[in-house]
Amino acid sequence: MSRFLKKQYQNLEPYTPGEQPKNQKLIKLNTNENPFGPSPRAAAVISSGEVSKLMLYPDPEASELTTAIAQYYNLEKEQVAVGNGSDEILAFSFMAYASEGSNIWFPDPSYGFYKVYADIYRSKAGPIPLTEDLRIDPKKYKNLNGTILIANPNAPTGIALNLNDIEDIIASNSSNLVIIDEAYIDFGAKSCVPFLQKYDNLLVIQTFSKSRSLAGARVGFAMGSKELISDLNRIKFSFNPYNLNRLSISAAAAAIRDEAYFQQTRQTIIKTRETFTKQLKELGFTVLPSSANFVFAKSSRLSGEEYFHGLRERNILVRYFGKEPISDYVRITIGREEDMEQLIFATKELLGKGN
Ligand SMILES: *Cc1c(COP(=O)(O)O)cnc(C)c1O
Repeated sequence: MSRFLKKQYQNLEPYTPGEQPKNQKLIKLNTNENPFGPSPRAAAVISSGEVSKLMLYPDPEASELTTAIAQYYNLEKEQVAVGNGSDEILAFSFMAYASEGSNIWFPDPSYGFYKVYADIYRSKAGPIPLTEDLRIDPKKYKNLNGTILIANPNAPTGIALNLNDIEDIIASNSSNLVIIDEAYIDFGAKSCVPFLQKYDNLLVIQTFSKSRSLAGARVGFAMGSKELISDLNRIKFSFNPYNLNRLSISAAAAAIRDEAYFQQTRQTIIKTRETFTKQLKELGFTVLPSSANFVFAKSSRLSGEEYFHGLRERNILVRYFGKEPISDYVRITIGREEDMEQLIFATKELLGKGN
């Protein structure tokens, strides 16, 4: 730390991203990437012609992409804003709505970035503990004072809220903005985008990183009323108008137009998740009911830490958080079927069950 860093940042605890190992031999199931890769149509638009256009700035409005997203969700183009990953959209939302010293309520545990953004934008983080069985209790989110931010499905549990509960939260907080982070929505939960017709205090955030397999392209987006979206764009144009690069705009637009590939890959992941969950349970694991592309699981015989290290020694990387109340658990991304078979094989070895 230099002596020039602002005082307010000196105690900031940055987000810890999951490891991105250089070792290609590892089976990487730690950061919820999608093993199938982006739609072939996304690759097809990155032609050498497009690459040579990198001499030009991209469209600051990313119109090709906002139009494609709006079409997909039956919204108007002015109801969509894009960001460099949904992380940037979250940051814009904090800048726009979480005033210094005001409350921002979110579940705990949830996506680790929420606390970091609350700290950097100096809003008052109000973590709301999950129930004992690691669920979000919707009753705790009624009539709050401040902004509400909920990941649905939640991370790292994978458990989704149903739409009635979400609607009750939105309706009972008509003076508050409710932000729903739907990073994992395409793996089995229902999106609350249709509520945008009815409520002007709802902002929905999604990403191309998980279900569209474009984590490396960094594309996220928000959907809301035209007024909310214009707020986010006001921040974006005051911060980084060219936040999405040309190649990512084209690739993401091509990806969201390829419905067949999307359906096929997400269904495969859902099916693999169900088979894998059953196998883990047969080995004595508790597996939370997941609507995401990962499962959160704990063994009756191995501690979370032992399991994490045992898998790592067998070249399988999962995510271990090592904090209460989730220190017994590991989070396992759903990869290809053969990846999950390897993991089951390694787990049997660790449990001393041979094959
Ligand atoms: C992965 C994830 C994000 C971030 O996604 P990017 O678009 O890659 O920045 C946001 N929220 C949750 C809950 C996530 O799991």
